Amino acid sequence: MNILVLNCGSSSVKFQLIQTDMDRIEHNSDRTLAGGIIERVGSQSLITFQSTGQQKVRQALPLRDHRSALDYLLRWVISPESKIKDINSLADIHAVGHRVVHGGEKFTMSVRVDDAVIEQIEDSIDLAPLHNPANLKGIMAARELLGPGVPQVAVFDTAFHSTMPEESYLYAIPYQFYRRHRIRRYGFHGTSHRYVAYRYRTLLGIDREKVNVITLHLGNGCSACAIRGGESMDTSMGLTPLEGLVMGTRGGDIDPSIIDFIHHKEGMTLSEIDTVLNKQSGLLGISGLTNDMRELLDEEREKQDRRAKLAITIFCTRVKKYIGAYLAEMGGADAVIFTGGIGENSAVIRDRICEGLAWMGLALDKEKNAALVSGKEGEISAQGSKLRAFVIPTNEELLIARDTLRTITNAPRRW
Ligand code: ADP
Repeated sequence: MNILVLNCGSSSVKFQLIQTDMDRIEHNSDRTLAGGIIERVGSQSLITFQSTGQQKVRQALPLRDHRSALDYLLRWVISPESKIKDINSLADIHAVGHRVVHGGEKFTMSVRVDDAVIEQIEDSIDLAPLHNPANLKGIMAARELLGPGVPQVAVFDTAFHSTMPEESYLYAIPYQFYRRHRIRRYGFHGTSHRYVAYRYRTLLGIDREKVNVITLHLGNGCSACAIRGGESMDTSMGLTPLEGLVMGTRGGDIDPSIIDFIHHKEGMTLSEIDTVLNKQSGLLGISGLTNDMRELLDEEREKQDRRAKLAITIFCTRVKKYIGAYLAEMGGADAVIFTGGIGENSAVIRDRICEGLAWMGLALDKEKNAALVSGKEGEISAQGSKLRAFVIPTNEELLIARDTLRTITNAPRRW
């Protein structure tokens, strides 16, 4: 089955076209036929498409909305110019899987999209005002362009964390705020945490119930997840993705009183402060240079930039803190798993996070750690390390494609 995976942001449309079926899932032999991104939807859009084995094609073109972007994308996919084998017309696209950021409390697993589901995603807009409307636009555009006969599935970033117990998801604020407004921790990056936990159990050949790990998704957005018995029992992002680890431009955990303090001292509005915390904090805020970890590491190494070093150190210390907290909460774990752009590619950052953790049984093998970059998968802990460490590149699109297949064929969706 050929599945179009769509990830619509407020001004972008990312896609992958993935060929999968139950047999391919079994043998881990799903095929990515093509992928790409349209950025700056709504103005002069930047298009980057690539079909597997072919050169990247780049183009700039005005695309006024998500529907026009998807229309353009579909035309390219079926055109001879894209050279995608097995795709000659829209009828060769058998289903669409959408990344949907917030499923609220309603969605605990991926679902086939119908009118009721659309309404419920609309109900969660309050919780993700930036993301869910864009995801909905993608769903509506796909429905219009491919027709109601092509099944669509919504895969939620929050769903994997729906197993968190009350003591993890409730904030210690008056309970009526939860009752009235559903203010609680939801967590995000669920598809990524779930995928790497699945790969871990496949690598080790163990059952899902035996998976006791801490997964660290370290990309532009960062989150940690405590997975016990194969289920998410706690995660660092909260009501929104702002909580938890230090990220590219988000500060993660802060004393909430800081908001009122800044308001008085700087005369900024709540919404301006929200922008500061989401877009001008984290690595960028501390370093005053960039949100890009690679550039910060270069600055630190080549120019001994004090604030670049500080940003990196605060980043690593926060991750370390969460590892310690989750180990205590989980009653111990078997492994720590690194993923995301930083987690997958930076041996230096992994080393700095794990530095000084030998007392809790985590010892890295320096050579293995240095060797696992650029999409490689494997163990990086030293032989005999009580708490093991792994690098497992994430693949949210693949999981969305597989979930789409399993949802529309009513196959079991446990991972
Ligand atoms: P997103 O969360 O937007 O999907 P990614 O997972 O691609 O982002 O992660 C982006 C981050 O990964 C950036 O901070 C980038 O600098 C970092 N990164 C990518 N490659 C390396 C590398 N070799 N060393 C350090 N950081 C890296």
